[in-house]
Amino acid sequence: MRVLLPALLLTIAAAVPAQTAVPAAQSELEQRVDASIATADLDGWLRRLTSAPNQVGSPHDKENADFIAASLRSWGWQVAVEQTRVLVAYPTVQKLSLLGTDNYAADFSEPPIEGDKDTATRDGVLPGMEAYSADGSVDAPLIFVNEGLSKDYDELARAGQSVEGKVVLVKSTGAGRWVKPRLAQQHGAVGVVIYSDPDADGFTKGDVYPEGAWRTPHTLQRGTLGIDSVLDAKSATTFQANRHTDDLHLPVVTIGYGDAEHFLRALGGSAVPNRWQGGLPLTYHVGGDAKVHLEVRSPWEWRTLYNVIGTLRGSEFPGEWVIRGVHHDAWVFGAWDPLAGTTALLAEARAIGELAKAGHRPRRTLVFASWDGEELGILGSRAWTDRHAAELAHKAVFYLNNDTTGRGFLATAGDPSLASLVDGVAGDLRDPETGATVQARRLAKRAVDAAEKGKDVEGPIVPQRLGTGSDYLPFAHRLGVPSLHVRYGYDRDGDDENVPIYHSLYDTYTHYQRFGDPGLTYVNLLARTNARLVLRVANADVLPWRYTAFALSLGKDIDRLATGAAAEHREAVRRNALLDHDAYRLAAVAYRHEQPPSKLDDAWQDIDLGPLHDAQRDFLTAAEGYDQAASSAGKLTAKQVTAVNKAIRDIAPAFLQASGLPQRPWYRHLLQAPGRREGEDTAPLPGIGDAIEARAWEQAREEVRLTTAATRRATALLKQATQILVIPQP
Ligand SMILES: [Zn+2]
Repeated sequence: MRVLLPALLLTIAAAVPAQTAVPAAQSELEQRVDASIATADLDGWLRRLTSAPNQVGSPHDKENADFIAASLRSWGWQVAVEQTRVLVAYPTVQKLSLLGTDNYAADFSEPPIEGDKDTATRDGVLPGMEAYSADGSVDAPLIFVNEGLSKDYDELARAGQSVEGKVVLVKSTGAGRWVKPRLAQQHGAVGVVIYSDPDADGFTKGDVYPEGAWRTPHTLQRGTLGIDSVLDAKSATTFQANRHTDDLHLPVVTIGYGDAEHFLRALGGSAVPNRWQGGLPLTYHVGGDAKVHLEVRSPWEWRTLYNVIGTLRGSEFPGEWVIRGVHHDAWVFGAWDPLAGTTALLAEARAIGELAKAGHRPRRTLVFASWDGEELGILGSRAWTDRHAAELAHKAVFYLNNDTTGRGFLATAGDPSLASLVDGVAGDLRDPETGATVQARRLAKRAVDAAEKGKDVEGPIVPQRLGTGSDYLPFAHRLGVPSLHVRYGYDRDGDDENVPIYHSLYDTYTHYQRFGDPGLTYVNLLARTNARLVLRVANADVLPWRYTAFALSLGKDIDRLATGAAAEHREAVRRNALLDHDAYRLAAVAYRHEQPPSKLDDAWQDIDLGPLHDAQRDFLTAAEGYDQAASSAGKLTAKQVTAVNKAIRDIAPAFLQASGLPQRPWYRHLLQAPGRREGEDTAPLPGIGDAIEARAWEQAREEVRLTTAATRRATALLKQATQILVIPQP
């Protein structure tokens, strides 16, 4: 048995398409970058950046922006600090208490933790809160609605209960927090309490801070209620007024599971359905007579965002921009989220700045961005991309993003055309824990994860397309720039939920050094990973995009869309048939007073995805041809390089719908958008999918035509690029 695993891994490694060898001069530059990235510097920067609270509007967020700007300048970068005024709503009053004899009140502050002196800070620390909550003061019954998703409200209705006129208590999991008050409002609730159940990231997971990494009973999860779910074309140009929460009218607070336990114990009524039970040591109930007082006042105030933009002009192609970003604002100190990633940016900027001073300036222009206002709803990067949209449309070549990062496996999400670039970089770097290459560890992880599910894996690692959640949003979804999100972590690609003290006071330097990345060896690795990605793109003759993974990903998305739509239709038909036959009433348990569910919309038209499937197959053939030709091409003439780059740079914009997706015009990419359904990160083929969901059948057919035409156009561009590569030039 012992020989099997290595043999299997070799097979897996061989399935990855051959990399173009990195030119010797490039390898040498990368060695020099490695040599100038020192863990002691990273440590000093992380200490400094996390030494005081960093929310938008705080003095230290501004000090960090100034420090980052001054550092970049001293390393030879041209720096602009671009300011944007935004309306911010942090609460000045928050109350949540039981009404009656037990008038227990929730506490919105987090106690100090022994051994972590930062946690004793009170000056400038925001309480546990939801930014942009509406003002309000209500006395109303409290009702528990699990995660506060549509299916939970449906289940509640079937038990004959309603949230009309009540305050809902919901877990923080299952979907973005901005989803929860909006659904509660639709169902007639008058207030929302969001809490972190220990099942998600508390004692159920492991020892709590400071013994372990996990959430204590009084660790609070801050967040924003204003986010891209309500973006539209209008708000993109007027968001400086930042009324991206105008639709919310109820007060919302966040509490820890220590307080939640007290409120849950006060709830009477029937026991919750099994699937709603959480990790606290009591039987959860839906609610009866217990009433609460909930009050929030959040004055809207103007604050300034400081985006720090460092530019290093390219020596040969200054009009082509390689952009690399990470935000610098945090909810409190923000060591995990986002300042470890910000120290990596500093290390890269210094190393690359030193190379430039020594005469090795990158061939394309580098733009390094330290964004502000990400936590309030991706405000800084949206403001900057909006302001520079026209220039970015013809200059932006690539966007690389970091946010929360830890230790473990390289995890990426992004445009599948970048998969091969990532594989190449990961193959050249050593993992600090095992000494194996980062790529070997990634492949092993993928194989083991699949084996645990009884599956085999084959083919290249195809990054998942980007959804919502960080500063890549405007680059990927609005501008259509090939974008990549990179982090290290122990969990799976795209899963950010397991940062144990997410958005709390305890996201400190001490916590990070103990549990995030002790010794910062992975922050160091992250900086070297980013620097390679950035420099390989900046210095390439022909941009290192490859399209086999892209074509495979498109094929999978077509299947995912078709399967999803068919399943939705089947469910509606099935449920309605059962209702017609009175089956739900007969199957109900009498003493629980179960009500039948409501009818679903089963009006349906078939959307023929055949033409898109055909176009995808042709695209795959062309992609394999191009990837082969690009990886085996010898020395090209300058004319060839220019012509190939022009063709492949036209591929990404081919998938943009200029007028925006019909159901949400701020988003313009035919192949990717954040999920529309609650809890869904990405939506496959959102133009078509949104239209099907809206039962806009003609529009769905039109979106299929547009996506097919875009795929055909991309295929033609790939064939054109391949021709230039394979035909000897005079
Ligand atoms: Zn973040």
